[in-house]
Amino acid sequence: MNEPQPVPLLDLKAQYATIREEIRAAVDAVLESQMCILGKTVADCEAALAEYCKCPHAIGVSSGSDALLVSLMAEGIGPGDEVVTTPYSFFATAGGIARLGAKPVFVDIDPATYNIDPAGIEAAITEKTKAVIPVHLYGQCAEMDPIMAAADAWGVPVVEDAAQAIGSEYKGRRAGTIGRYGCFSFFPSKNLGAAGDGGLVTTRDDAVAERLRVLRAHGSKPKYYHALIGGNFRIDALQAAVVAVKLRHLDKWTAGRQSNAARYRRLFEAAGLSESTGGEENLPSPSGRGAGGEGLVTLPVELEYNRHIYNQFVIRVPRRDELRAYLNERKIGNEVYYPVPLHLQECFAYLGYKEGDFPESEKAARETIALPIYPELTDRQAERVVECIAEFLKA
Ligand SMILES: *Cc1c(COP(=O)(O)O)cnc(C)c1O
Repeated sequence: MNEPQPVPLLDLKAQYATIREEIRAAVDAVLESQMCILGKTVADCEAALAEYCKCPHAIGVSSGSDALLVSLMAEGIGPGDEVVTTPYSFFATAGGIARLGAKPVFVDIDPATYNIDPAGIEAAITEKTKAVIPVHLYGQCAEMDPIMAAADAWGVPVVEDAAQAIGSEYKGRRAGTIGRYGCFSFFPSKNLGAAGDGGLVTTRDDAVAERLRVLRAHGSKPKYYHALIGGNFRIDALQAAVVAVKLRHLDKWTAGRQSNAARYRRLFEAAGLSESTGGEENLPSPSGRGAGGEGLVTLPVELEYNRHIYNQFVIRVPRRDELRAYLNERKIGNEVYYPVPLHLQECFAYLGYKEGDFPESEKAARETIALPIYPELTDRQAERVVECIAEFLKA
């Protein structure tokens, strides 16, 4: 037997090898044109993204974080305002709220999907609430019908944090087309990654789209006349060129991630580590069963009316930190998204939250681990990942 090969968490070099010539040609075309800020490359990329997202408007911006920030700016959000969101997300979800001087108000997650629990939203909304930000975590849409109902009842706009969810669907609707804003990231580890930073805001509303376009260029309209204070939130033409090429491959890569997820379900079941393959039929367990009753792992729940694009494949396991160490020793890529819920971050101490305020988020932060799910993952690599987890759990 050969030495077992390491399995990376993500292998962007393997992906680049398949598109090298296309990317180089696209980058070269931008360099030859020397139209590096907005212009045709950006406009063409935005048109392709609007079509892909099934949304009339797509505005390229500098990052997913700035997509969220500029959306909140477009709503005029500032000091004294509150924005309701989840504490179980990447920092940027709440960071943009706080940077504008507004207050993040957190609502705990549904332990089955890790997405914001819609039942808590209504109770969190007050007269001061100016937006609700659900996150489509790991590539699966949040429960948008009740979220929209709660927000609509108060006339509050919804900003979808779809940074991990390009192309995902909720009841036949694409992520980013349900709320007033859809915010996407082209950070390299997202399903559609640039060669650096980039992002996108989608909206169905013509006036909102116009406002976003003005805000991403310092609020300048006409040139050098500023009715609004915006910022420099433009996507680079070079990044737009890369994104446009990769977009042509996105559905194939998403299919790869989905079949990798299905393969993990089969492998975990065959190893006796999960109760059922679940898959599309899987229903949320009311309490998320918690980490591994009797050495079992809890596989991701995929709601049957969702199109899950598997930016991450996250499982709950017993003795999570020990398992991480075991996998790290064997060079099996893994990560924790995210180890500290936002309400317990040091910089948010001033909000006055404490441990125990959002028990499901805190539990998920302790019990979950993300496994390699990238499209190029081979059968052998996936088998190796599950073998190592089985060895650890049965020891
Ligand atoms: C990646 C991410 C962001 C931020 O995107 P950047 O492009 O890195 O700024 C925001 N929210 C979530 C949920 C993310 O995963």
